[in-house]
Amino acid sequence: MDLRDQLCAYGRRAVELGLVIGTSGNLSVRQGDRVAVTPSGVALDRLTPEMCPVVDVCGQLVEGELQPSSETPMHLAIYETTDARAVVHTHSVFGTVVATTMTELPPIHYNALLLGGAVRVAEYATYGTPELAANVRAALEGRRAALMANHGGVSVGATLEEAFEATRLLEWLCEVYVRALGVGRPAVLTDDQLTAVVERALNPPEFPRL
Ligand SMILES: [Zn+2]
Repeated sequence: MDLRDQLCAYGRRAVELGLVIGTSGNLSVRQGDRVAVTPSGVALDRLTPEMCPVVDVCGQLVEGELQPSSETPMHLAIYETTDARAVVHTHSVFGTVVATTMTELPPIHYNALLLGGAVRVAEYATYGTPELAANVRAALEGRRAALMANHGGVSVGATLEEAFEATRLLEWLCEVYVRALGVGRPAVLTDDQLTAVVERALNPPEFPRL
């Protein structure tokens, strides 16, 4: 699928799943030194491929009439220092709740390991600024997702599908945590328990054949 078709497909899905509202949220996907990104000011379920600008890794507009998303500097900062090939940023509800109240999402479920463990909350900075891009980049170190203080969440992947699934998982983990807080004090998995999960995943049991 063409990069810009992918942006339209996952943009629609992000709206359908309630991960974004209005014109919030942005997605990008990289191929070589080109990055296709969602445009500024267009709802993600209204996108057509022609609306999506293509920029080079330095942020120069290569193709498209519309302005790239205001959060493009953050996407490019991530591509600059990681091998990510796709970035998804949303203002999903539970992610934003956690990002507004905590400095990290502790691992209360072993699926947190799929994102690299505890999810850090990047320090607050105004949207679209190099400061926010730098804070997010630091929070993503060794992780597939980060939260952004008083703002939302960001996930990365080797493909847009992978980055999108990381976004869904991040939102699920945040929802479980927030709902668990309403019932009692959520238990956080220890390092030993997390290590045991990794060992189990690396050495799956073999079921004998009859
Ligand atoms: Zn945002």
